[in-house]
Amino acid sequence: MTTQPKSIPMLDLQAQYEPIKNDVLNAITSVFESKHFILGPQGKLFEASLADYCGSDYGVGVSSGTDALIIALMALDIKPGDEIITSSMTFFATAGSIARTGAVPVFVDIDPDTYNIDPKKIEEKITTKTKAIMPVHLYGQMADMESIMGIAKRHNLHVIEDAAQAIGASVTWSDGSVRKAGTIGDIGCFSFFPGKNLGCCGDGGGVVTNDKSLYETLIHLRNHGAHPKYYHQIIGGNFRLDELQAAVLNVKLPYLEDQHNGRQRNASFYNSKLEGSQFKTPVVTSGNRMIFNQYTLRCKNRDVVLEKLKEKRIAHAVYYPVPLHLQDCFKELGYKEGDLPETEQAAKEVFSIPVFTELSDEDKEWIVEILLN
Ligand SMILES: *Cc1c(COP(=O)(O)O)cnc(C)c1O
Repeated sequence: MTTQPKSIPMLDLQAQYEPIKNDVLNAITSVFESKHFILGPQGKLFEASLADYCGSDYGVGVSSGTDALIIALMALDIKPGDEIITSSMTFFATAGSIARTGAVPVFVDIDPDTYNIDPKKIEEKITTKTKAIMPVHLYGQMADMESIMGIAKRHNLHVIEDAAQAIGASVTWSDGSVRKAGTIGDIGCFSFFPGKNLGCCGDGGGVVTNDKSLYETLIHLRNHGAHPKYYHQIIGGNFRLDELQAAVLNVKLPYLEDQHNGRQRNASFYNSKLEGSQFKTPVVTSGNRMIFNQYTLRCKNRDVVLEKLKEKRIAHAVYYPVPLHLQDCFKELGYKEGDLPETEQAAKEVFSIPVFTELSDEDKEWIVEILLN
């Protein structure tokens, strides 16, 4: 019996900050001393590094993961009334951004093993109004992109990857090549919210693309559509990543692989200890590299388990308790309970436990002990 630690958080940002503190503070100081706060050298450097890390031709820093999705939709000229196929088991921003462009989110059920959109159920939802598919790479594992790209090609649809939780995830394609999250569709969208594997010190996001003309449109859109300055052929917005955020991201990006590896080690530990228990452990599809932004378990009596974790002060979270097709704000889309049975069942059964890199062995042992007793 291990002794009970004080409490275990979902994420320990202090532990993440400690080893890079000097570099972060120096980077912040240098931005202040340059007095160049918006669209400067830090942002440029980060955009090149992001593209390089992802293996894409172009990267653009933007103001958040949400704005990454919005600007991607705008760049692909998504218009009011257009239909965008996506998952209902995701963070609100996925469908929120679709709705904010005036388009209609069309929800497709998930694969109950990976919690990602089920490609077998996409084609039946395609209509003459469908313009794009927006797969979400939930918890850090990519959706079945090879099937999705096949469908998109057959129906001439755009693909926008919501890779907010999946920077650095990858999949081995049937031709043997390794493809990274965000680089397969027309545009890939990332979030640098502090809780993501690569987090800044506020809000931040990024998009990547291999299409030069889309890249130029994205660059203009994130700065009100201006090109050149004060001349506007298109309407954009203020979707800029600021220099302070970019400077912090430049410090943290070189440690991102370590962050992924630590999370994967913790996930393997949990997998080995929880195998054969009442908990369904994460299913990683063959060829996938999952970066475990979340480690998500599934069980029938979730309430009892969560109560136990709460009592022992072990942080936990449900991503997400209400599927998006059943949210009040989407009532007029006409979905009802029972429309997406796998999504609805998963929403009742999933919960995530701490998996962050700096989690101690002691804490992991303790979490397992509590879960199994
Ligand atoms: C975090 C997240 C977003 C939004 O990112 P923000 O940076 O918080 O705006 C979008 N989609 C998914 C799946 C996310 O997890």
